[in-house]
Amino acid sequence: MSYQANNERYESMTYNRSGKSGLKLPAISLGLWHNFGGIDTYENGKSMVRRAFDLGITHFDLANNYGPPAGSAEVSFGRMLQEDLAPYRDEMVISTKAGYYMWPGPYGEWGSKKYLVSSLDQSLKRMGLDYVDIFYHHRPDPDTPLEETMSALDLIVRQGKALYVGLSNYRPEETRQASKILKELGTPCVIHQPSYSMMNRWIEEGLQDVLDEEGIGSIVFSPLQKGILTDRYLHGVTPDSRAAGPSVFLRPEDITDEVISKVSRLNDLAAERGQKLSQMALAWVLRGGRVTSALIGASKVSQIEDAVGALNNAEFTADELKLINDILN
Ligand code: NDP
Repeated sequence: MSYQANNERYESMTYNRSGKSGLKLPAISLGLWHNFGGIDTYENGKSMVRRAFDLGITHFDLANNYGPPAGSAEVSFGRMLQEDLAPYRDEMVISTKAGYYMWPGPYGEWGSKKYLVSSLDQSLKRMGLDYVDIFYHHRPDPDTPLEETMSALDLIVRQGKALYVGLSNYRPEETRQASKILKELGTPCVIHQPSYSMMNRWIEEGLQDVLDEEGIGSIVFSPLQKGILTDRYLHGVTPDSRAAGPSVFLRPEDITDEVISKVSRLNDLAAERGQKLSQMALAWVLRGGRVTSALIGASKVSQIEDAVGALNNAEFTADELKLINDILN
């Protein structure tokens, strides 16, 4: 049966402005890094994207290399657009990125104009799109002049292949310089995509100040610390979890007794607040309004429902914030 989006999809989601741009993003966005590749069950991915959109999640984040195999998450998402979501394209913010290894030879990674323009052309073909809403440079390139990388982003916008541009994994000073160049070119950076969670607070040491000064929004990835900041691993590593799977980014040995003892105390605090730990972790990154959107991953529809439920209790008392610091330090 053809997909009909839920008529109430805009009733409970919060939409935050990205920096000083005109673009608003949902407080919770869905990333397709894991669980949407060619090795995964297509129908499960499709159910998650449908449910997300029905809950007001208008933003879907991809990259050229998401899969595995690399590129296959964009292929699957393109199929979902064609089967379900094409009528809703103007209600969606779709992003992709280039920066990591994608194809062999000197033009298949990093930050040259040659690589970025070709990569986005390939991404658009895989997704069956004329344009993406946001195109990111995925990681800084120490060897290509920043001017070249930024002028490639500017070119892509002028060609109509992306509406907005963003930076990911750039450190504070690199961000400031890149933002200055982009402003001069007339294509301001609207968003930065850094990692951030209760266990990974590096953006508080400089990056957030640069973003405020430059008027750039932030969408933070791995806010659940790839699943550690949930009840997932409280009773060991189960076979359906990311840590047990093929991903090299989370291994069973990362789930140490010390980590679990902290997670268990955080889980008790979340229960006292009447929410799940995953929900408290998302509310925490959004606290104070400095972050535009929390960019989650999911392997099940219920995890997306949990994430959206975080917005029902997003306030913290000073005592709660202190307790979280004490547990993690
Ligand atoms: P998260 O920290 O949100 O981790 C998501 C994982 O946590 C899920 O796949 C699931 O793992 C587990 N999980 C989620 N909700 C629950 C729940 N309610 N209960 C129990 N477990 C839960 O983020 P990701 O690391 O997946 O990253 C999110 C997105 O950020 C990516 O898809 C991508 O778009 C972006 N990203 C960007 C990067 C960059 O360099 N710019 C780098 C990394 C990510 P399980 O499979 O075990 O169920």
